[in-house]
Amino acid sequence: MIIPKSNRLTDPQVAELTAIVSEFGCNLQPIIGAVRTIYAILGDERDDLMINRIEGLEYVDRVDRIQSGFKLMDRRSDLASHRVNIGGVTLGEELFIIAGQCTIDPKNSNYFYESAEAVKEAGGHVIRGGVWKPRTNPYSFQGDVKSLDILMEASRRTGLPVDAEVMDEEHLKMALDAGVHMLQIGARNALNYSLLRSIGKAIAATDTVVLLKRSIHMGPIDEFVAAAEYIVSFGNPNVLLCPRGTKPGLDGYRNHPDESITPLLKEKSWAPVVVDPSHSVGRAVYVPACSMAAIAYGADGLCIESHVEPAKGIGDDPKQALTPEALAQTIKQGKALWQLMRG
Ligand code: PEP
Ligand code: MN
Repeated sequence: MIIPKSNRLTDPQVAELTAIVSEFGCNLQPIIGAVRTIYAILGDERDDLMINRIEGLEYVDRVDRIQSGFKLMDRRSDLASHRVNIGGVTLGEELFIIAGQCTIDPKNSNYFYESAEAVKEAGGHVIRGGVWKPRTNPYSFQGDVKSLDILMEASRRTGLPVDAEVMDEEHLKMALDAGVHMLQIGARNALNYSLLRSIGKAIAATDTVVLLKRSIHMGPIDEFVAAAEYIVSFGNPNVLLCPRGTKPGLDGYRNHPDESITPLLKEKSWAPVVVDPSHSVGRAVYVPACSMAAIAYGADGLCIESHVEPAKGIGDDPKQALTPEALAQTIKQGKALWQLMRG
């Protein structure tokens, strides 16, 4: 990874570096951070001759050679100073909240608009709403593209950014064309490397944020961080890691709550961690406790399912969505705990 002396290199300097690395069979990838751009050498960067030539250039400060399977996401990376901003919040500076319905019901858009207003009122920063849904049962409601308009209308009404899951390249294109601010990669696709690459490429030159959920069956922590590296390696470092419970579940909960992975992720990576307590436990009554546990373990934020009237919801909402009152209370208590933990 090349760290320049200035915040950004000029086009001729980039061209000169590109020419040098390509002589050694590598590519140069600018990674545009909030303050400055760093330049990843993609390929085998061990050649001392290549490194010496680069370090000899007067506009290069140094070359970091981190031996890591995820050299951009690694906490020793120069990207560790990058801060992800969305919804007027800088991750790490205050408790970050994504909330909203699991599934938008296209036949009852008013529920979504009211749920979105309730998220705003409770102090949420990003509204989530499922347009396309990964369902275990192929005959269950799979989502509806009409919900994309409802999602964007909720963003206009509240002035908040919105988050939706994309499961394939068609969804990706439609979501980006519509202006969705945050793309969720769900637990089922977290190891779909071709989708991760497509997303990385599609958002490379944008400030879109990705919420990468932990796969249901993901094993080692490195596997999770490396999945984020697939996206970031195309140039946009705005990725949030989202533990959401794994399988096999803890008897009584929907999944095995994995918020305790947070400090371990933070030992390895600089990426912000946003825990999803709703899918972890799968029952609204336990979501507040799981939220507090996540904050106690050092999470930077929460992604919570909430609905203005959970019983009238579809998808996961009847079982796991918080009411507006419970959401407001959870955010209030979460903020207080967050201050206590970090103060
Ligand atoms: C969801 O967020 O509604 C969802 C389906 O998430 P996951 O991929 O974590 O199951
Ligand atoms: Mn859900």
